[in-house]
Amino acid sequence: MPLSPEQEAEIAAQRSESHQTLRATAPGMEQHLYTAHPVLDHGFVRVIDYMGDDSAITQAARVSYGRGTKSVSNDEGLIRYLMRHWHSTPFEMCEIKLHVKLPVFVARQWIRHRTANVNEYSARYSILDREFYIPAPDSLAAQSTTNNQGRGDVLEGAEAQRVLDILRDDSMRAYDHYEEMISQDGQQGLARELARMNLPANIYTQWYWKVDLHNLLHFLRLRADAHAQYEIRVYAEAIAKLVADWVPATYKAFEDYRMGGATLSATGLECIRRMLKGETVTQENSGMSKGEWREFEGLLG
Ligand SMILES: Cc1cc2nc3c(=O)[nH]c(=O)nc-3n(C[C@H](O)[C@H](O)[C@H](O)COP(=O)(O)OP(=O)(O)OC[C@H]3O[C@@H](n4cnc5c(N)ncnc54)[C@H](O)[C@@H]3O)c2cc1C
Repeated sequence: MPLSPEQEAEIAAQRSESHQTLRATAPGMEQHLYTAHPVLDHGFVRVIDYMGDDSAITQAARVSYGRGTKSVSNDEGLIRYLMRHWHSTPFEMCEIKLHVKLPVFVARQWIRHRTANVNEYSARYSILDREFYIPAPDSLAAQSTTNNQGRGDVLEGAEAQRVLDILRDDSMRAYDHYEEMISQDGQQGLARELARMNLPANIYTQWYWKVDLHNLLHFLRLRADAHAQYEIRVYAEAIAKLVADWVPATYKAFEDYRMGGATLSATGLECIRRMLKGETVTQENSGMSKGEWREFEGLLG
């Protein structure tokens, strides 16, 4: 349960208020405002605020005086052109502010995306909740034998149970000790800023994360990708759904050119030209390394 009844009530109260505005709003995004979308066992993503819509992008690209919209299909075409040619600044005209609750080890990966503004819950000031990420059984996988940075088959039976028991017991024991150290019952109580150092990386933290659409799409390209760790990928996938409702034309172009598309090297392009001419191209005569060729073959399916 990611939210307490009090927090649910606060969100409902916020959603019941509405304000008139002259600014552009995106109907798809209005549906999501403030709502918490659950991710993992205790986490969530919720939209706190946003600026702009698909037309804000074309309006900026045309540097127009009004909405700048000639027609929907015109706008879609322009958005696709901008995306195709890496003309990125118009996408920076849209912004989103999210409230995210996430395990600390996921936050460590996420914070590497430096082009956002972040304000994190202070564990110096406040007491952290007793909430730890414990993987669902189908996410409890063995080390991959082919990819050092990945997972293999799902753990089963006694091994899976033992791992879950260790994760739960260690988390609870660490939190019991945290509470014991900060307690002021008959003792001074250790400072919260020090007591937290004993807590494991699966404890949940929270932050407000504000980013422009261009950098958000870059984040999604990297983190909603199959190569990203599952625990950050599910957050990226939840955000991707919000973006699809916020700026549908942009998201469609992004899916086409970035998520579904691929970049080829000059060598790769030359191989394709040779293949189209009927030549048999192999790794040995391709000019590519074995790793590169494997990826190239993967691209071609
Ligand atoms: C699958 C995967 C595996 C990873 N593995 C590791 C790992 O093993 N170890 C590790 O340390 N990291 C790892 N990373 C993190 C990765 O190296 C990047 O730090 C992270 O993805 C953020 O990307 P970014 O710098 O492009 O994003 P942002 O910080 O959002 O930056 C966006 C863009 O802005 C520009 N930019 C931002 N800041 C600067 C700057 N100071 N100087 C120049 N240009 C800048 C760059 O063009 C950059 O691409 C991994 C990431 C992924 C997706």
